[in-house]
Amino acid sequence: MTVPAPLVGLDIGGTKTAAALVGPDGEVLGRRLAPTPAGSGPAAVLDTAARLARELLDPGGAGPVGVGTAGTVDPGTGTIRYATDSLPGWAGTPVADELAVRLARPVRVTNDVNAAALGESWVGAGRDRRELLLVAVGTGLGGAMLQRGRICTGARGGAGEVGHLPAPGAERLRCGCGRYGHLEAIASGTGLSAAYALDTGLRITGRAVAERAAAGEPVAREVVERAATALGRALAGLVALLDPQAVVLAGGAADALLPRARAALTAELPAAWADVPLLPATLGADAVVVGAARLAGHPGHGRQTDAAPAPVTDRRTRA
Ligand SMILES: [Zn+2]
Repeated sequence: MTVPAPLVGLDIGGTKTAAALVGPDGEVLGRRLAPTPAGSGPAAVLDTAARLARELLDPGGAGPVGVGTAGTVDPGTGTIRYATDSLPGWAGTPVADELAVRLARPVRVTNDVNAAALGESWVGAGRDRRELLLVAVGTGLGGAMLQRGRICTGARGGAGEVGHLPAPGAERLRCGCGRYGHLEAIASGTGLSAAYALDTGLRITGRAVAERAAAGEPVAREVVERAATALGRALAGLVALLDPQAVVLAGGAADALLPRARAALTAELPAAWADVPLLPATLGADAVVVGAARLAGHPGHGRQTDAAPAPVTDRRTRA
């Protein structure tokens, strides 16, 4: 056996694309970053991702590449099933096949939040935990579940989308999916902004609401507390459903929501799960590229493209 070679992970988002060379212990050995040319269409987005990966890949190698991307990814084919307007035309793009052709090697693709969960469970806050729930609170609200160390994809790649759980208190708030009353509509940056605007008539960003709450402004504090309480209560239900070893909270709004969400979670949890911790994510912006590299080395779900010769040995260990 040779020593495992570093692998490349890609993070394709609506505004930026990142690539990293990740060593066998999860350490980031090199990075590349570029704006995502979202307005130029899927081919330009794929070209950019391939260029960044090529800058890090061993030109003589054939090791697989992993990708975490915005959108819902078909777990069997690596094709985008659904994407928001942040990447116009992305839905229907066969990302695994297209990148495999550009890079002449196997490519495995998953949703970016799924990749973040793989990264955090490998070398981050959920290190060595194989049963993990990760919730990412940023502009929106995403989630991912790992069972036995593998991504739980569901039938169409959409498992773990916790943002669309019904949330008491969110009835007047519109979710990113267009419905009202979902968890994302209250517990997200967009939700903080909308709730604050309803209460005050003033439209500021979710980050600004969090800053005002931290500075002690009563209305902002109440908005943040309502959001965090809704999140913590929903997490308690999810813990009872999924029985994870830990819940990891990631994303730009995580710090603002964590203390109150943890209190609500603790208050709501049945005694059987009283020791399930709510942990802040630790990998930050690296979580997706690190998790994507992990996916490349340990395919977590359905076979995708093997367009290139010499696919990697299937090291399907239980690690
Ligand atoms: Zn929704």
